[in-house]
Amino acid sequence: MIPCTSCERPLTCDACGVLYEPESPDAYAALSRIEVPVLCKGCGRMLVCRWCKLPYDGRLDDDDVAGNLG
Ligand SMILES: [Zn+2]
Ligand SMILES: [Zn+2]
Repeated sequence: MIPCTSCERPLTCDACGVLYEPESPDAYAALSRIEVPVLCKGCGRMLVCRWCKLPYDGRLDDDDVAGNLG
């Protein structure tokens, strides 16, 4: 079982409901680097956490950060 990097629940594909299981240590290492996109092996889509909806699309969650003006 691989925990989601955000909510730490079992990382499950939001699209098809398959538990994500990396097939290699390299794939597992990619999970700790959020900038690396991860594809679901079940449906081939971009992996999205079923619980917290965190997309593993290789992009940082900075859409709402338009500036840091305090
Ligand atoms: Zn999550
Ligand atoms: Zn899937």
